Amino acid sequence: MPQHHPAPARICPDCDGFASAAITTGGRDRHGHLRTLTVHCPACHGTGTRTRTAFAGSEVAA
Ligand SMILES: [Zn+2]
Repeated sequence: MPQHHPAPARICPDCDGFASAAITTGGRDRHGHLRTLTVHCPACHGTGTRTRTAFAGSEVAA
């Protein structure tokens, strides 16, 4: 018997749910640590999900 799951929140179409990425700065600091910058998807601000109502104002019609 198939189960019906509640619809999940919409995955952000800009990042497909991968809302954060770590970017290396290309080198290591003097402690030998690899420095990374964590950046978030500008569309969903790192949440990975979007809702039409919350982001209606940011939609750009081509
Ligand atoms: Zn996103």
